[in-house]
Amino acid sequence: MKVGVIGVQGDVEEHILATKNALRNLQIEGEVVAIRKTGIVPDCDALIIPGGESTTISKLIFANSIAEEILEFARGNGKIMGTCAGLIVLAKQGDEQVAKTKTKLLGLLDVKVKRNAFGRQRESFQTKLDMKYVGEIDAIFIRAPIIESVGKNVEVLAKFEDKIVAVKQNNILGLAFHPELSSTKVHEFFLKF
Ligand code: GLN
Repeated sequence: MKVGVIGVQGDVEEHILATKNALRNLQIEGEVVAIRKTGIVPDCDALIIPGGESTTISKLIFANSIAEEILEFARGNGKIMGTCAGLIVLAKQGDEQVAKTKTKLLGLLDVKVKRNAFGRQRESFQTKLDMKYVGEIDAIFIRAPIIESVGKNVEVLAKFEDKIVAVKQNNILGLAFHPELSSTKVHEFFLKF
């Protein structure tokens, strides 16, 4: 199995490490690569868009056509996980910050996201969450977005207080937090489904 982590910006190495550990735990033969240019996405069996800065990630993937390859990958029903900024980039609809920065979204996940919904860096936090199919996890929120609304094909997997923070739509998984920083549970779930 070949897993590609979109590597233009953000916590790419952390996702690569978590994915390698998850593959090992599942005893799946595989390789994990960072993607910074076109031509690699079509060879992958799964893709991850990491956290970072959604404005930057969006700008870079649309500038070098990795975005078109991701869209094609999704049309072929490929599995994609987006975390934090990656969730924002996957979303169909953003908020006024997304509009103001003219950030292009991939529109693959039928959700509306709100950037920086918990405030600034110093409002970052860690909490226990009960995630459907995965169980209890430690979720780390860093300038995290929330999911304000979901379309009818979107399954809600976790909430923090009353806010939606994890969803799944067919082969696409979107998380407002950083699973790669706490354990391999979410990656194992992603690689298995
Ligand atoms: N605040 C960032 C954004 O809006 C996301 C933060 C993160 O990925 N940790 O793009």
